[in-house]
Amino acid sequence: MTNSERLDTLFVHAGQPQRWPNQVPTAPPIIASTSFRTGSPEEMDRILGGTEAGFTYSRHANPTVEAFQEAVRALEGGEVAQAFSSGMAALDAALFAVGLGPGDRLLLSVDLYGATMNLSHEIWGAMGVEVCDANLTDGDGWIETVRAWRPKAILVESLSNPLMKVPDLPRIIHEAHQVGAAVIVDNTFATPCLLRPLTLGADLVVHSATKYFGGHGDAVGGVVVGTQQYAGRLHQYVKLRGSVLSPFDAWLLHRGVKTLGVRFDRQCQNARELAQRLDASGVFRRVYYPGLLHHPSHARATQLFGGRGYGAVVTVDVPGGRERVFRLLSRLTLVGSATTVGDVYTLCLYPRVASHRNQTPEALAAAGISDDTLRIAVGLEAVEDIAADILSAMD
Ligand code: PLP
Repeated sequence: MTNSERLDTLFVHAGQPQRWPNQVPTAPPIIASTSFRTGSPEEMDRILGGTEAGFTYSRHANPTVEAFQEAVRALEGGEVAQAFSSGMAALDAALFAVGLGPGDRLLLSVDLYGATMNLSHEIWGAMGVEVCDANLTDGDGWIETVRAWRPKAILVESLSNPLMKVPDLPRIIHEAHQVGAAVIVDNTFATPCLLRPLTLGADLVVHSATKYFGGHGDAVGGVVVGTQQYAGRLHQYVKLRGSVLSPFDAWLLHRGVKTLGVRFDRQCQNARELAQRLDASGVFRRVYYPGLLHHPSHARATQLFGGRGYGAVVTVDVPGGRERVFRLLSRLTLVGSATTVGDVYTLCLYPRVASHRNQTPEALAAAGISDDTLRIAVGLEAVEDIAADILSAMD
Protein backbone atom coordinates (compact mmCIF):
# COMPACT_ATOMS: atom_id res chain seq x y z
CA MET A 1 0.00 0.00 0.00
CA THR A 2 1.50 3.36 -1.02
CA ASN A 3 1.02 6.58 0.94
CA SER A 4 -1.79 7.78 -1.29
CA GLU A 5 -3.66 4.45 -0.98
CA ARG A 6 -4.06 4.55 2.81
CA LEU A 7 -7.77 4.69 3.70
CA ASP A 8 -7.44 7.87 5.77
CA THR A 9 -5.89 9.63 2.79
CA LEU A 10 -8.34 8.12 0.32
CA PHE A 11 -11.32 9.32 2.40
CA VAL A 12 -10.43 12.88 1.61
CA HIS A 13 -8.62 12.71 -1.72
CA ALA A 14 -10.27 9.89 -3.70
CA GLY A 15 -12.28 11.14 -6.66
CA GLN A 16 -11.11 14.75 -6.32
CA PRO A 17 -11.08 16.40 -9.75
CA GLN A 18 -7.48 16.81 -10.88
CA ARG A 19 -8.23 18.54 -14.15
CA TRP A 20 -11.35 19.74 -15.94
CA PRO A 21 -12.49 17.80 -19.01
CA ASN A 22 -12.49 19.71 -22.30
CA GLN A 23 -16.20 19.22 -22.80
CA VAL A 24 -18.33 22.16 -21.62
CA PRO A 25 -21.41 21.10 -19.62
CA THR A 26 -24.65 22.43 -21.15
CA ALA A 27 -26.14 23.22 -17.73
CA PRO A 28 -23.98 25.35 -15.44
CA PRO A 29 -22.32 23.18 -12.77
CA ILE A 30 -22.87 23.63 -9.03
CA ILE A 31 -19.49 24.38 -7.53
CA ALA A 32 -20.09 24.11 -3.83
CA SER A 33 -16.42 24.43 -2.89
CA THR A 34 -15.68 26.75 0.03
CA SER A 35 -12.16 27.48 -1.17
CA PHE A 36 -10.15 27.22 -4.37
CA ARG A 37 -6.58 26.01 -4.86
CA THR A 38 -4.67 28.55 -6.85
CA GLY A 39 -1.84 27.71 -9.26
CA SER A 40 0.71 29.47 -7.03
CA PRO A 41 0.88 31.61 -3.87
CA GLU A 42 1.61 34.58 -6.14
CA GLU A 43 -1.67 33.98 -7.96
CA MET A 44 -3.59 33.85 -4.66
CA ASP A 45 -1.89 37.10 -3.65
CA ARG A 46 -2.99 38.76 -6.89
CA ILE A 47 -6.60 37.53 -6.61
CA LEU A 48 -6.95 38.55 -2.96
CA GLY A 49 -5.29 41.87 -3.79
CA GLY A 50 -7.87 42.48 -6.49
CA THR A 51 -5.40 42.77 -9.37
CA GLU A 52 -6.49 39.50 -10.97
CA ALA A 53 -9.92 37.93 -11.36
CA GLY A 54 -10.38 34.51 -9.80
CA PHE A 55 -11.68 32.54 -6.89
CA THR A 56 -10.14 31.97 -3.47
CA TYR A 57 -12.96 31.70 -0.92
CA SER A 58 -16.72 31.46 -1.56
CA ARG A 59 -17.65 34.33 0.76
CA HIS A 60 -15.66 36.53 -1.63
CA ALA A 61 -16.79 34.97 -4.91
CA ASN A 62 -17.99 31.63 -6.23
CA PRO A 63 -18.32 30.47 -9.86
CA THR A 64 -21.94 29.27 -9.53
CA VAL A 65 -23.00 32.49 -7.82
CA GLU A 66 -21.08 34.47 -10.41
CA ALA A 67 -22.92 32.72 -13.27
CA PHE A 68 -26.27 33.77 -11.72
CA GLN A 69 -25.01 37.32 -11.16
CA GLU A 70 -23.88 37.56 -14.76
CA ALA A 71 -27.33 36.45 -15.98
CA VAL A 72 -29.08 39.15 -13.93
CA ARG A 73 -26.51 41.79 -14.84
CA ALA A 74 -27.10 41.16 -18.53
CA LEU A 75 -30.91 41.13 -18.12
CA GLU A 76 -30.93 44.44 -16.26
CA GLY A 77 -28.33 46.03 -18.53
CA GLY A 78 -25.96 46.91 -15.66
CA GLU A 79 -22.18 46.89 -15.37
CA VAL A 80 -21.99 44.87 -12.15
CA ALA A 81 -24.28 42.56 -10.20
CA GLN A 82 -23.79 41.25 -6.68
CA ALA A 83 -25.92 38.45 -5.26
CA PHE A 84 -26.95 38.12 -1.60
CA SER A 85 -28.62 35.61 0.68
CA SER A 86 -32.05 37.32 0.39
CA GLY A 87 -33.85 40.29 -1.11
CA MET A 88 -33.66 42.04 2.27
CA ALA A 89 -29.86 41.63 2.36
CA ALA A 90 -29.73 43.02 -1.19
CA LEU A 91 -31.78 46.09 -0.16
CA ASP A 92 -29.55 46.63 2.87
CA ALA A 93 -26.45 46.33 0.65
CA ALA A 94 -27.89 48.85 -1.83
CA LEU A 95 -28.43 51.36 1.00
CA PHE A 96 -24.82 50.77 2.09
CA ALA A 97 -23.55 51.02 -1.50
CA VAL A 98 -24.92 54.54 -1.99
CA GLY A 99 -22.92 55.59 1.06
CA LEU A 100 -25.70 56.45 3.53
CA GLY A 101 -24.35 57.48 6.90
CA PRO A 102 -25.39 59.39 10.04
CA GLY A 103 -27.05 62.71 9.16
CA ASP A 104 -27.85 61.64 5.58
CA ARG A 105 -31.44 61.59 4.35
CA LEU A 106 -33.28 58.68 2.79
CA LEU A 107 -36.61 59.24 1.04
CA LEU A 108 -38.92 56.21 0.80
CA SER A 109 -41.99 55.66 -1.30
CA VAL A 110 -45.00 55.07 0.99
CA ASP A 111 -45.81 52.00 -1.13
CA LEU A 112 -42.77 49.91 -0.24
CA TYR A 113 -42.91 46.31 0.99
CA GLY A 114 -43.42 46.42 4.78
CA ALA A 115 -40.05 44.91 5.71
CA THR A 116 -38.25 47.42 3.45
CA MET A 117 -39.97 50.20 5.43
CA ASN A 118 -38.91 48.60 8.70
CA LEU A 119 -35.33 48.03 7.52
CA SER A 120 -35.05 51.70 6.57
CA HIS A 121 -36.75 53.20 9.61
CA GLU A 122 -35.62 50.82 12.32
CA ILE A 123 -32.10 49.80 11.27
CA TRP A 124 -30.88 52.70 9.14
CA GLY A 125 -32.85 55.15 11.27
CA ALA A 126 -31.13 53.81 14.40
CA MET A 127 -27.77 54.44 12.72
CA GLY A 128 -28.58 58.13 12.43
CA VAL A 129 -30.01 58.25 8.91
CA GLU A 130 -33.04 60.56 8.63
CA VAL A 131 -35.82 58.60 6.93
CA CYS A 132 -38.96 60.13 5.46
CA ASP A 133 -41.88 58.59 3.50
CA ALA A 134 -43.56 60.35 0.58
CA ASN A 135 -46.23 59.50 -1.94
CA LEU A 136 -44.05 59.15 -5.04
CA THR A 137 -46.84 57.85 -7.25
CA ASP A 138 -49.84 60.17 -7.10
CA GLY A 139 -49.70 63.84 -7.97
CA ASP A 140 -46.46 65.81 -7.87
CA GLY A 141 -46.33 67.00 -4.26
CA TRP A 142 -43.25 64.78 -3.84
CA ILE A 143 -41.23 67.00 -6.18
CA GLU A 144 -41.22 69.79 -3.61
CA THR A 145 -40.15 67.29 -0.94
CA VAL A 146 -37.19 66.14 -3.06
CA ARG A 147 -36.14 69.72 -3.87
CA ALA A 148 -36.51 71.03 -0.33
CA TRP A 149 -35.38 68.00 1.66
CA ARG A 150 -32.47 67.03 -0.67
CA PRO A 151 -32.18 63.33 0.21
CA LYS A 152 -29.00 61.37 -0.44
CA ALA A 153 -31.02 58.43 -1.78
CA ILE A 154 -34.56 57.60 -2.88
CA LEU A 155 -35.95 54.06 -2.62
CA VAL A 156 -38.95 53.10 -4.74
CA GLU A 157 -40.62 49.98 -6.19
CA SER A 158 -41.24 50.03 -9.95
CA LEU A 159 -44.48 48.10 -9.41
CA SER A 160 -45.64 48.36 -5.83
CA ASN A 161 -46.50 45.56 -3.42
CA PRO A 162 -49.46 44.93 -3.11
CA LEU A 163 -51.50 47.64 -4.91
CA MET A 164 -49.52 47.51 -8.15
CA LYS A 165 -48.92 51.26 -8.37
CA VAL A 166 -46.44 52.48 -10.96
CA PRO A 167 -44.41 55.61 -10.11
CA ASP A 168 -43.17 57.99 -12.78
CA LEU A 169 -39.61 56.67 -12.67
CA PRO A 170 -38.10 58.92 -15.38
CA ARG A 171 -39.38 61.99 -13.49
CA ILE A 172 -38.22 60.67 -10.11
CA ILE A 173 -34.76 59.92 -11.52
CA HIS A 174 -34.56 63.37 -13.12
CA GLU A 175 -35.58 65.21 -9.93
CA ALA A 176 -33.32 63.03 -7.77
CA HIS A 177 -30.28 63.67 -9.91
CA GLN A 178 -30.95 67.43 -9.81
CA VAL A 179 -30.28 67.31 -6.05
CA GLY A 180 -27.53 64.68 -6.26
CA ALA A 181 -29.67 61.83 -4.87
CA ALA A 182 -29.13 58.22 -5.94
CA VAL A 183 -32.25 56.29 -7.00
CA ILE A 184 -32.58 52.68 -5.87
CA VAL A 185 -35.37 50.79 -7.64
CA ASP A 186 -36.79 47.52 -6.30
CA ASN A 187 -37.73 45.86 -9.59
CA THR A 188 -38.95 42.59 -8.07
CA PHE A 189 -42.60 42.82 -9.19
CA ALA A 190 -41.91 44.22 -12.68
CA THR A 191 -38.86 42.09 -13.50
CA PRO A 192 -36.65 43.06 -16.46
CA CYS A 193 -39.40 41.58 -18.67
CA LEU A 194 -41.45 44.76 -18.13
CA LEU A 195 -38.88 47.37 -17.18
CA ARG A 196 -35.10 47.89 -16.96
CA PRO A 197 -34.73 50.86 -14.61
CA LEU A 198 -30.98 51.27 -15.22
CA THR A 199 -31.74 52.12 -18.85
CA LEU A 200 -33.89 55.00 -17.52
CA GLY A 201 -30.97 56.28 -15.46
CA ALA A 202 -31.65 54.61 -12.08
CA ASP A 203 -28.50 54.14 -10.01
CA LEU A 204 -29.15 50.71 -8.52
CA VAL A 205 -31.72 47.98 -9.15
CA VAL A 206 -32.60 45.48 -6.44
CA HIS A 207 -34.40 42.15 -6.74
CA SER A 208 -35.79 39.67 -4.34
CA ALA A 209 -34.66 36.77 -6.55
CA THR A 210 -36.79 34.58 -4.29
CA LYS A 211 -39.76 35.69 -6.38
CA TYR A 212 -39.94 35.61 -10.20
CA PHE A 213 -36.26 34.82 -10.86
CA GLY A 214 -36.42 31.58 -8.88
CA GLY A 215 -40.05 31.08 -9.79
CA HIS A 216 -40.51 27.69 -8.19
CA GLY A 217 -40.63 28.62 -4.51
CA ASP A 218 -37.52 26.68 -3.54
CA ALA A 219 -34.70 29.22 -3.13
CA VAL A 220 -34.21 32.50 -1.26
CA GLY A 221 -31.84 35.13 -2.65
CA GLY A 222 -31.37 38.73 -3.70
CA VAL A 223 -29.29 40.71 -6.14
CA VAL A 224 -28.21 44.32 -6.71
CA VAL A 225 -27.27 45.56 -10.19
CA GLY A 226 -25.64 48.88 -11.03
CA THR A 227 -22.71 50.67 -12.53
CA GLN A 228 -19.05 49.94 -11.88
CA GLN A 229 -18.84 52.74 -9.30
CA TYR A 230 -20.83 50.59 -6.83
CA ALA A 231 -18.83 47.37 -7.37
CA GLY A 232 -16.38 47.98 -4.53
CA ARG A 233 -18.94 48.71 -1.81
CA LEU A 234 -21.29 45.91 -2.89
CA HIS A 235 -18.44 43.42 -2.79
CA GLN A 236 -17.16 44.79 0.51
CA TYR A 237 -20.66 44.36 1.98
CA VAL A 238 -21.00 40.71 1.00
CA LYS A 239 -17.44 39.93 2.13
CA LEU A 240 -17.71 41.61 5.52
CA ARG A 241 -21.38 41.18 6.43
CA GLY A 242 -21.22 37.66 5.04
CA SER A 243 -24.74 37.59 3.63
CA VAL A 244 -23.66 35.32 0.77
CA LEU A 245 -25.93 33.44 -1.58
CA SER A 246 -25.21 29.70 -1.39
CA PRO A 247 -24.03 28.03 -4.61
CA PHE A 248 -26.99 25.65 -4.57
CA ASP A 249 -29.53 28.47 -4.25
CA ALA A 250 -27.64 30.44 -6.92
CA TRP A 251 -27.89 27.42 -9.20
CA LEU A 252 -31.66 27.10 -8.61
CA LEU A 253 -32.18 30.84 -9.16
CA HIS A 254 -30.09 30.79 -12.33
CA ARG A 255 -32.07 27.81 -13.61
CA GLY A 256 -35.25 29.78 -12.86
CA VAL A 257 -34.01 32.80 -14.84
CA LYS A 258 -33.80 30.64 -17.96
CA THR A 259 -37.59 30.27 -18.02
CA LEU A 260 -38.41 33.72 -16.59
CA GLY A 261 -39.53 35.11 -19.96
CA VAL A 262 -42.06 32.40 -20.74
CA ARG A 263 -43.27 32.03 -17.15
CA PHE A 264 -43.74 35.72 -16.56
CA ASP A 265 -45.44 36.26 -19.89
CA ARG A 266 -47.99 33.58 -19.10
CA GLN A 267 -48.40 34.79 -15.50
CA CYS A 268 -49.09 38.32 -16.76
CA GLN A 269 -51.71 36.98 -19.20
CA ASN A 270 -53.31 34.91 -16.42
CA ALA A 271 -53.30 37.91 -14.08
CA ARG A 272 -54.95 40.17 -16.64
CA GLU A 273 -57.64 37.62 -17.38
CA LEU A 274 -58.17 36.93 -13.67
CA ALA A 275 -58.41 40.65 -12.87
CA GLN A 276 -61.06 41.08 -15.58
CA ARG A 277 -63.06 38.10 -14.30
CA LEU A 278 -62.91 39.18 -10.65
CA ASP A 279 -63.79 42.75 -11.59
CA ALA A 280 -66.74 41.62 -13.71
CA SER A 281 -67.98 39.30 -10.94
CA GLY A 282 -68.86 42.34 -8.81
CA VAL A 283 -68.19 40.44 -5.57
CA PHE A 284 -65.13 42.48 -4.58
CA ARG A 285 -65.27 46.07 -3.47
CA ARG A 286 -62.34 46.86 -5.72
CA VAL A 287 -59.87 45.05 -7.98
CA TYR A 288 -56.36 46.51 -8.34
CA TYR A 289 -54.51 45.57 -11.51
CA PRO A 290 -52.72 48.11 -13.71
CA GLY A 291 -53.98 46.31 -16.82
CA LEU A 292 -57.53 47.39 -15.89
CA LEU A 293 -58.57 50.74 -17.33
CA HIS A 294 -59.74 52.02 -13.94
CA HIS A 295 -56.42 51.36 -12.14
CA PRO A 296 -54.84 54.78 -11.38
CA SER A 297 -51.51 53.65 -12.89
CA HIS A 298 -52.98 52.17 -16.08
CA ALA A 299 -51.73 54.86 -18.48
CA ARG A 300 -48.28 55.06 -16.91
CA ALA A 301 -47.91 51.26 -16.84
CA THR A 302 -48.88 51.07 -20.51
CA GLN A 303 -46.32 53.71 -21.37
CA LEU A 304 -43.45 52.48 -19.16
CA PHE A 305 -43.95 48.75 -19.76
CA GLY A 306 -44.50 49.27 -23.47
CA GLY A 307 -47.48 46.92 -23.68
CA ARG A 308 -45.35 43.94 -22.60
CA GLY A 309 -47.71 43.23 -19.69
CA TYR A 310 -48.91 44.61 -16.38
CA GLY A 311 -47.40 42.25 -13.85
CA ALA A 312 -48.63 39.03 -12.28
CA VAL A 313 -50.25 40.19 -9.04
CA VAL A 314 -53.93 41.05 -8.66
CA THR A 315 -55.10 42.63 -5.42
CA VAL A 316 -58.72 42.82 -4.27
CA ASP A 317 -60.68 44.49 -1.49
CA VAL A 318 -62.85 41.86 0.17
CA PRO A 319 -65.98 43.40 1.68
CA GLY A 320 -66.20 42.30 5.31
CA GLY A 321 -62.53 42.66 6.28
CA ARG A 322 -60.48 40.17 8.27
CA GLU A 323 -63.27 37.73 9.09
CA ARG A 324 -64.40 37.41 5.47
CA VAL A 325 -60.80 37.26 4.22
CA PHE A 326 -59.98 34.45 6.67
CA ARG A 327 -63.12 32.58 5.57
CA LEU A 328 -62.12 32.97 1.93
CA LEU A 329 -58.55 31.81 2.61
CA SER A 330 -59.68 28.72 4.49
CA ARG A 331 -62.13 27.75 1.74
CA LEU A 332 -59.59 27.84 -1.09
CA THR A 333 -58.75 24.42 -2.47
CA LEU A 334 -56.49 24.99 -5.48
CA VAL A 335 -55.05 28.39 -4.64
CA GLY A 336 -52.71 28.43 -1.64
CA SER A 337 -52.54 30.80 1.28
CA ALA A 338 -48.83 31.57 1.56
CA THR A 339 -46.44 34.49 1.90
CA THR A 340 -44.66 34.93 -1.39
CA VAL A 341 -45.15 35.91 -5.03
CA GLY A 342 -43.60 34.73 -8.27
CA ASP A 343 -44.11 31.01 -7.89
CA VAL A 344 -45.66 28.76 -10.49
CA TYR A 345 -48.50 28.28 -7.95
CA THR A 346 -51.19 30.89 -7.34
CA LEU A 347 -50.87 32.11 -3.75
CA CYS A 348 -52.95 34.54 -1.70
CA LEU A 349 -51.51 36.71 1.03
CA TYR A 350 -53.31 38.92 3.54
CA PRO A 351 -51.01 41.97 3.91
CA ARG A 352 -52.43 42.94 7.34
CA VAL A 353 -51.07 39.74 8.91
CA ALA A 354 -48.08 39.13 6.65
CA SER A 355 -46.17 41.54 4.36
CA HIS A 356 -47.43 44.69 6.13
CA ARG A 357 -48.03 43.24 9.60
CA ASN A 358 -45.73 45.64 11.44
CA GLN A 359 -46.82 48.86 9.77
CA THR A 360 -48.47 51.61 11.77
CA PRO A 361 -52.13 52.46 10.98
CA GLU A 362 -50.89 55.74 9.47
CA ALA A 363 -48.42 53.95 7.18
CA LEU A 364 -51.10 51.48 6.10
CA ALA A 365 -53.52 54.29 5.36
CA ALA A 366 -50.86 56.16 3.38
CA ALA A 367 -50.19 53.05 1.31
CA GLY A 368 -53.92 52.39 0.81
CA ILE A 369 -53.87 48.99 2.56
CA SER A 370 -56.91 48.15 4.68
CA ASP A 371 -58.40 45.15 6.52
CA ASP A 372 -60.09 44.26 3.22
CA THR A 373 -56.94 44.08 1.09
CA LEU A 374 -56.02 40.63 -0.22
CA ARG A 375 -53.10 39.98 -2.61
CA ILE A 376 -53.25 37.24 -5.23
CA ALA A 377 -49.90 36.26 -6.77
CA VAL A 378 -50.96 34.59 -9.98
CA GLY A 379 -49.33 31.34 -11.07
CA LEU A 380 -49.35 29.17 -14.15
CA GLU A 381 -52.54 27.16 -13.61
CA ALA A 382 -55.47 27.43 -16.05
CA VAL A 383 -56.97 30.84 -15.29
CA GLU A 384 -60.51 29.39 -15.33
CA ASP A 385 -59.53 27.15 -12.39
CA ILE A 386 -57.92 30.00 -10.45
CA ALA A 387 -60.96 32.25 -10.91
CA ALA A 388 -63.42 29.45 -10.07
CA ASP A 389 -61.56 28.61 -6.84
CA ILE A 390 -61.45 32.23 -5.65
CA LEU A 391 -65.05 33.01 -6.61
CA SER A 392 -66.44 29.86 -5.03
CA ALA A 393 -64.47 30.60 -1.82
CA MET A 394 -66.25 34.00 -1.77
CA ASP A 395 -69.75 32.52 -1.98
N1 PLP B 1 -38.83 43.45 -2.19
C1 PLP B 1 -40.11 43.10 -2.41
C2 PLP B 1 -40.94 43.92 -3.35
C3 PLP B 1 -40.67 41.99 -1.76
O1 PLP B 1 -41.95 41.66 -1.97
C4 PLP B 1 -39.85 41.24 -0.86
C5 PLP B 1 -40.39 40.07 -0.14
O2 PLP B 1 -41.55 39.78 -0.16
C6 PLP B 1 -38.54 41.64 -0.66
C7 PLP B 1 -38.05 42.74 -1.34
C8 PLP B 1 -37.65 40.90 0.28
O3 PLP B 1 -37.15 39.75 -0.35
P1 PLP B 1 -36.70 38.43 0.43
O4 PLP B 1 -37.92 37.81 1.01
O5 PLP B 1 -36.05 37.59 -0.66
O6 PLP B 1 -35.72 38.84 1.46
